[in-house]
Amino acid sequence: MVLGSSPHGCLVVPNYNKQSAMNNDRYSAERQSMVDAQLRARGITDERVLAAMTRVPRHEFVTEPFRREAYEDHPLPIGENQTVSQPYIVAIMLQALRLNGFERVLEIGTGSGYQTGLLAELAREVFSVERYASLATSADEVIRRLNYDKVSIRIGDGTQGWPEKAPFDAITVTAAAPRVPPALFAQLREGGRMIVPVGPAYAQELMLIRKENAGPVITKMEGCRFVPLIGEQGYSEPN
Ligand code: SAM
Repeated sequence: MVLGSSPHGCLVVPNYNKQSAMNNDRYSAERQSMVDAQLRARGITDERVLAAMTRVPRHEFVTEPFRREAYEDHPLPIGENQTVSQPYIVAIMLQALRLNGFERVLEIGTGSGYQTGLLAELAREVFSVERYASLATSADEVIRRLNYDKVSIRIGDGTQGWPEKAPFDAITVTAAAPRVPPALFAQLREGGRMIVPVGPAYAQELMLIRKENAGPVITKMEGCRFVPLIGEQGYSEPN
């Protein structure tokens, strides 16, 4: 089921009205401090990523009891025993993709939709897959409310990717996989980049995979801890 769709093939230019409206919410000062203290000070240098994280209202993607913590340095619950990741880890993953605004991106694990919104700021078109219908539906509502019109969200097993929309210039997997899902690598275009946490449930390593001459070139990045990627090419459903 595709919850939202967007026009294809348009050249995206910044929407300054939307940006300034978003910048002036009641959390804008906290958001700016998050960017300065948690991201810039820790070595995030991609100015497009920093600008997007200054704009996208993370508090809109969590429910009321957690809004006041939205710009703190930790993950937050989003329902279905899932979390929206710590801002710093989101920034590391986005920076690793080196997006320039012209890409078609696949995201596996929509969750709250926060990273989806950031991807919509950073790329041309975003396709996102979430296994929980409740999360996909609420993420889609927030994404539409914030006027991100080049995002499509689908409910399903993201370990299979989204073959009808492949190939992708970049793929981000926001849950821990036992190995790089082969279907996702197959849907990455030649020269494309994929970021995925790989490893057992208690600790993983972020891996950046570039597709060169049809094969993977792997760079191991930080240690991390994500919720599991559950699916045919991921972990089994918990009992
Ligand atoms: N990026 C999200 C955000 O900004 O809120 C956080 C994602 S959360 C860490 C990981 C998400 O992956 C969860 O919502 C989980 O339900 C989802 N997930 C796990 N296995 C999946 C699969 N096979 N296909 C799609 N989504 C999956």
